[in-house]
Formats: sequence, structure tokens, C-alpha cells
Amino acid sequence: MSHSLVTMSYIVATILFILSLSGLSNQETARRGNYYGMLGMAIAIIATTLSGSVTSYAILIVALLIGGAIGAKAALKVEMTQMPELVAIMHSLVGMAAVLVGYANFMDASTTLSGVEKNIHEVEIYIGILIGAVTFSGSVIAFGKLSERISGKPMLLPGRHWLNLGLLVLAIILGRMFLQQTETGGGTFPLLMMTLIALAFGVHMVMAIGGADMPVVVSMLNSYSGWAAAATGFMLSNDLLIVTGALVGSSGAILSYIMCRAMNRNFISVIAGGFGTSGGEAAVVEGDVTPISAEDTAQLLLDAKNIMIIPGYGMAVAQAQHTVNEITKLLRDKGKKVGFGIHPVAGRMPGHMNVLLAEAKVPYDIVYEMDEINEDWGHVDVSIVIGANDIVNPSALDDPNSPIAGMPVLECWKGETTVVLKRSMASGYAGVGNPLFVLENTRMLFGDANATMQAVLKALKG
Ligand code: NDP
Repeated sequence: MSHSLVTMSYIVATILFILSLSGLSNQETARRGNYYGMLGMAIAIIATTLSGSVTSYAILIVALLIGGAIGAKAALKVEMTQMPELVAIMHSLVGMAAVLVGYANFMDASTTLSGVEKNIHEVEIYIGILIGAVTFSGSVIAFGKLSERISGKPMLLPGRHWLNLGLLVLAIILGRMFLQQTETGGGTFPLLMMTLIALAFGVHMVMAIGGADMPVVVSMLNSYSGWAAAATGFMLSNDLLIVTGALVGSSGAILSYIMCRAMNRNFISVIAGGFGTSGGEAAVVEGDVTPISAEDTAQLLLDAKNIMIIPGYGMAVAQAQHTVNEITKLLRDKGKKVGFGIHPVAGRMPGHMNVLLAEAKVPYDIVYEMDEINEDWGHVDVSIVIGANDIVNPSALDDPNSPIAGMPVLECWKGETTVVLKRSMASGYAGVGNPLFVLENTRMLFGDANATMQAVLKALKG
């Protein structure tokens, strides 16, 4: 393939990636956005493969087959609830790739660069490995936390900010040593030391972050993986990889900003860690709960005019979205106004609830963002909270000592009646007790959300 054809293909792929991102910003166009992304990636792979820079097609084909087989198997096997951890582990692979490409570049004896160009190339290698190693180890820990293999409790070492600062200063000193030593053909020791420091920093950074801040960490690592890919692009002198990495890096940074704003947190305090603890065990809330049956819930719905459904992580676990959609259809056919209230950090990954509702074919125009509905609870007759907990916790607003104090939540208790569907009194991901469950106008419908929703559907039909 001629050089100009490769360049043309790269430009087309870049445009497709931009169209893909813009498509993904809206549920109605998200499917199209995915197709653009897939087409762009196919063009990018074909153009790079035929660009003449490949030295061994045999190795490339074996690598593509192995990588493709692992990817296909993971995609086929993964449950919808495991998506967040799959995304985290994918980020770690981008980081690892940047580290490996960096070392391959460093050891490549065939480079003919000299003077300033050589220095720039070495800086690229150093920074590429640094970002890659932080992304790799941070994403592995995020994977562990999201899959609950590692406790979500923040690990707060004494003097951790000084430790982080010390690691940063060390990385800078080692960088200087690396540049000095490469002049004479050395540099292995500072590079290895920096890699170890970057790996330790990634582990320490994510271990220090509490459960409630994990959404920001997921989007931040997404951003880092983009910058790691861009750094790889610089090392390989591949313009498309630089542009693609920058697109992922900057969109991840914007997402982190959106997540921080949604949680009323600033980025620096998130990185400083310690917000929210691990959940699971029953959290202490004072007062009595009022249980409700599926039949009575159905009756409440039949008597209501305005209904708001609030899905959370439990809906993903129960895979209740299809039953919820059936109930929504039935209620709308009966002339009820039904809406969905989506909290930006509901579930375990950005857009988690939107993906589930789109999968179940819930109409997009009845799905509302938190900001669109938080003023209107006075008009809501019944709110159905399906496996959500932290995102409807009044203590975030009322209790300045709550670990999630200040986080905006869906204020469903301001409506007439709230029905909460969950299996027990266990806390949510942030490990915080939820006074919503004991409020006078709250009813608890205990059980797996899909089973209880099925029972409500049956009662509605019957
Ligand atoms: P939560 O984790 O706060 O609560 C989920 C609730 O669902 C649990 O209390 C659980 O209670 C219930 N549940 C679990 N399985 C079922 C089931 N089969 N049927 C019925 N209920 C079930 O989820 P939210 O969506 O309210 O909040 C998200 C939390 O996750 C926030 O703290 C957020 O910060 C964090 N997070 C979000 C990320 C993101 O990007 N969106 C990433 C990482 C973390 P029980 O066991 O009693 O059934």
C-alpha cells in the first residue's frame, strides 16, 4: 500500500472514530456510533498491516489469532454485570502494551536517531512506560475492586500524600538519570526502577480510593489508557494511534469531570482517596421498615397517575430490565405517566443503566437524567427503586458526617410513596446505611428484583 493511501485510510479512520464518539453520546445514535467505531478500527488495522512497516506477517497473524480468540471468548462469556470489570481489565492491557512497546523501542538496536531526535525519542519511551505502568497496575486493582476480589475499603497508609509526592520526585530524578545514561548506551537501571515505582504508584493510587469514588477512577483509567495509547503512537511514529489515543484520553478526562460534578467532588480530592467504604454487610439504620407485597405494589401502581422508576446496580444483577419494560408498557397502555430517573453513577460503569434500558427497548424519551427530574418529585405518586441504594440515600444531603455527604442523589422520598426492591437491608457499594428504607412513606418489597417484578407484572395482568 502506498504511503499516501495509508495516510488517506488513517484520515478516514480518524473521522470515523470522531463520528463514533459523537454517536455514543446519545442513546438513539449509540448503535450507529458503534458501527462507525468498528469500521474505523477495521480500516486502521488493514491500513497498518499493509503499510509496509510489518517485518513478519507470520508473527502478526499468530498474534491477531491469539488476541482475537481471547477477545471473542471473553466477549461471549462475559455477563452484563461483569462488563465494568471487563472494561477495567481491557484498560490494563492498553497500559501493558505501552510498557512492552516502550521496552522494545528501548532495546531496538537498529534505530539510527541522533541528537535532539534521539533525546525526544527517549523522552517518549520514558513517559510512555510511565503512563503505561500506572495504567496497568491501577486498572488491575480497579478490576479487583469492581469484581469484589479486593475490598472496596480505601487503604489509607499514614503519610500517603508524602509517599505519592516522593514517588513522583523519584520518577523525575530517574528520568534525568535515564536521559544522561542513554547518551552512553546505558539507561536500563533507571528505566527499570521507574517502571517499578510507576507500578507501585498505580496500585497505591487505586487502593486508596473508597467505593463511592470508583466511578471517577473507572473514567480516569479510561483516560489514562488513551494517553498510554497516544504515547505508544509516538514511540511507533504512528499518527493514527496518537490521534486515537488523544481522543480516548480527552473524552475519558471529560467523563471524569462529569462524574466528579455528578458526585459533587473535585478531582484532586478523589485522587487523594478515602471517600466511602466497602459495602455488603447490613448497615445500621434506626427505625422500622414497612414491607409490602407484590400484589399491593401492583395496586399502588394502578392507583397512581405519575410513576418514576429508579434503576440501580441490583437491576443489572437481577437482569430485571425486560420485566421492567413489560410493566412500563402495560402501565403506559393504561394511561399512566411512567418515567425513568437515571443517576450518573448508578450501576458500576458510566451509562450502565442506559445500556440495560436500551437493551430492553425502553423508549428513550421517557428516560431522564437526574438534573431533569430532581425538582419534580412533588408530582410523583409512586417511585419504584429497583436495586438502587447509594443513589437514593438521603443521608448524602442530610448528614454532613455521612461518607457520601454532598453527593447529589435522586430525592424520591419527596414523592408520595416509594417502593424499594432489594433482597435484604444490606448497604450499597459505598457501604453506607440508608435511612430511606425506614421513612414513613417508603415500602420495602424484598426479594430478587426480577422475581418481585414478575410477581408485580402478574398481579397487574390478573
Ligand atoms: P448500590 O451498589 O448502591 O446498591 C445496589 C443494591 O442492589 C444493593 O443494596 C443490593 O441490596 C441490591 N441488589 C443486588 N442484587 C439484587 C437483586 N438481584 N435483586 C434486588 N436487589 C439487588 O447501587 P447504586 O446503583 O444505587 O449505586 C451505584 C454505586 O456504585 C455508587 O456507590 C457508585 O459510586 C458505585 N460505582 C459506580 C460506578 C459507575 O461508573 N457507575 C463504578 C464503580 C462504583 P441487596 O443485597 O439487599 O439486594
